[in-house]
Amino acid sequence: MSKEISRDIEKILIDESEIEQRCKELAAQIEKDYEKEGKTPLVVGLLKGSVPFMAELIKYFKQPIEIDFISVSSYEGTESIGDVKINKDLDLSSKNKNVLIVEDIVDTGRTLREVKKLFYNKGAADVKIVSLLDKPDRRVVDIAADYIGFTVPNEFVVGYGLDYNQLYRNLPFIGILRPEVYTD
Ligand code: 5GP
Repeated sequence: MSKEISRDIEKILIDESEIEQRCKELAAQIEKDYEKEGKTPLVVGLLKGSVPFMAELIKYFKQPIEIDFISVSSYEGTESIGDVKINKDLDLSSKNKNVLIVEDIVDTGRTLREVKKLFYNKGAADVKIVSLLDKPDRRVVDIAADYIGFTVPNEFVVGYGLDYNQLYRNLPFIGILRPEVYTD
């Protein structure tokens, strides 16, 4: 039986046109900042959540950029240590590059702290972060993204790259699931 996944959404928090508009603004701001310092960014998407956001964002860069992807996961049971395991590394070298990490959401901040460290260890000249969403109420690590699309309340959100059990990443908006979805 076919089932439309949008039926599982209780509420849309941020719609597609708002995200598109924000991506234009973010790209313009980021480009201006990098240009001022004479830098060409290596834009690195964290798989898989960043994919729709990254695809939208990079359309609006007018200057040359390089792009790549990395996939990391936390070592099981070591949340407090916060080390990350690389599942898929970059294809390009990040040595002496100005890396711009693209993330879907900053929650506790653990992932970004570790990924930032990782790129500095790889010899990056500079590491900045752009995140589509920020959930500041949940932060346990003192880290802030350099560029943020939207601040969201402390609720579990899906869509535009964000999943629940690997589903809902393809929704073109950010929304909240119906409670029945979790209990079914
Ligand atoms: P952090 O290390 O900041 O706690 O974790 C960030 C990661 O947790 C995100 O990249 C995302 O995969 C996941 N995450 C955090 N909050 C949410 C949320 O509200 N919805 C979804 N779908 N994933 C989330």
